[in-house]
Amino acid sequence: MGNFIAALVHCKKRLTRSREHREAHCQIFVNRSLHLENIRFYGFDMDYTLAEYKSPEYEKLGFDLVKERMVFIGYPQEILEFEYDPAFAVRGLWFDAHFGNLLKVDAYGNILVCVHGFEFVKHSQVYELYPNKFLPLDESRVYVLNTLFNLPETYLLACLVDFFTNSPQYTKSLTGVKCGELFMSFKSIFQDVRNAVDWVHLQGDLKKKTTENLEKYVKKDDRLPMFLTRLRESGAKTFLLTNSDYNFTDKIMTYLFDFPHGAKVSRYQSPTLTEFTGTGRRFRSYLTVVPKETEDPHRNWRTYFDTIVVDARKPLFFGEGTILRQVDPATGALRVGIHTGPFQKEQVYSGGSCDVFTQLIGAKGKDVLYVGDHIFGDILKSKKIRGWRTFLIVPELVRELHVWTDKCQIFDELQTLDIKLGEMYKNLDSSTKEKPDISKLRAAIRDVTHKMDMSYGMMGSLFRSGSRQTFFSSQVVRYADLYAATHLNLLYYPFSYMFRAPAMLLPHESTVAHEQRFVLESRDRSIAEEKEARKPQRVLERTHSQIPHVRPETPLSVTHNHDEDFSDDDSDEKNSLKNGDKTQ
Ligand SMILES: [Mg+2]
Repeated sequence: MGNFIAALVHCKKRLTRSREHREAHCQIFVNRSLHLENIRFYGFDMDYTLAEYKSPEYEKLGFDLVKERMVFIGYPQEILEFEYDPAFAVRGLWFDAHFGNLLKVDAYGNILVCVHGFEFVKHSQVYELYPNKFLPLDESRVYVLNTLFNLPETYLLACLVDFFTNSPQYTKSLTGVKCGELFMSFKSIFQDVRNAVDWVHLQGDLKKKTTENLEKYVKKDDRLPMFLTRLRESGAKTFLLTNSDYNFTDKIMTYLFDFPHGAKVSRYQSPTLTEFTGTGRRFRSYLTVVPKETEDPHRNWRTYFDTIVVDARKPLFFGEGTILRQVDPATGALRVGIHTGPFQKEQVYSGGSCDVFTQLIGAKGKDVLYVGDHIFGDILKSKKIRGWRTFLIVPELVRELHVWTDKCQIFDELQTLDIKLGEMYKNLDSSTKEKPDISKLRAAIRDVTHKMDMSYGMMGSLFRSGSRQTFFSSQVVRYADLYAATHLNLLYYPFSYMFRAPAMLLPHESTVAHEQRFVLESRDRSIAEEKEARKPQRVLERTHSQIPHVRPETPLSVTHNHDEDFSDDDSDEKNSLKNGDKTQ
């Protein structure tokens, strides 16, 4: 906990020092440095990226439809009484189909929170079910509820497990429930829910109900045409790469661009010279130059993209992919035969693979910044397999940042408790016989941490549980170069912007101030100091040596960089100039 608090204090200091000029909800956060100037292609996913579904209305719709489907396949009518509770689920939980538990885990599978139905399982019971409070990510047993589309089923799984394990007609066992001759394993319940969710998405009414009431379910922002126009004016190309089919994509995108105007453009009028005469003298006056906001006329959404691919089947797209076909935009039907390129403007393509796609658009891995909301399908695979730069959309960040800033008194409370804990051990060392009573402080720390977690929701924050980071968090840090609440936050940065990643501090760095001084023993001197100290001796050794290099020389110029955008050519060029190398 101490480290967490130290990190918080450090964060606050950092914020004050390098305060962004942008409001927190407008910011883009950086895991790995990225120079926008080097991005030649901006790719966008559609669902929950360009089209953000309204929460909790959209989750409620999904929840109700899956519930109805479950009853249709034979589940009891009573489950229709459940109503979606947005305060319960958080994205990124694991469902352990063996024991029927929802788990919030850290990066390695250590269990942070365990819920059986609606019951939060006690610490001691968790240890009984999971040795060392640990569960490996075994796909035959664990399902990761990765996306925002998974939220309704996360809550439904909790509802069903609660219903079956607490209804008097069912007998509870460790891995399921029994009713007469019938045994329902948690695994079978999970499988039924999964199939029902897929059915609702692919064959059921979810798309129909969404498109019938777009205003209720889809967020719309009139800056979108301007954003995409500015992107292309910067010289970059844009593409849409979505798993949705063409007809649905067309309806959603038409709605997103359904404004009487296209891009809103601020244009400076040319200065107007006015001349007037009065009392025999001639005056000249320049009118003040004011920017004038003009509006481009409305255009079809397809005109904002250089390439459009639907039915992409990500993550398969980043591997072997499927056949690339052309779509007839008039009917949505696929044309026969394989499309062999090149891509034509404003045409729509279906399927394909990343290999073929990047070849046809002429992109290299790091030229592409792909913006998506799916940590696995959009971000992890595109980065791992293709080396695309990645920008993860996390709509929950708006709420997360609100708690972080609005509930800062809770973080302060925790900091105060931590300081008190430090004071209890002050001036004590290994000779101390008495044992300070820290029980009250520990209980207070637990209470404040709980209060902090609950201010996010019943399962706490998406990114952490107390001082521990979640599995979702670790995936974001590892695979998303950038992340933000919405792609439109790019509007607040110039297209030449250099995103710099803040330093990730280790415990010894976050708790020890730079100002602190140590007197070093010789063996603890830094390598540079050590080499400096050994300099005269080295010259002596070298003259008698028969081997080419006695020891490595300390490099005098830059040998490596930490910036993924940095090209080796640049580096060599700069180094040779710096070293006065005139051989070129
Ligand atoms: Mg998506």
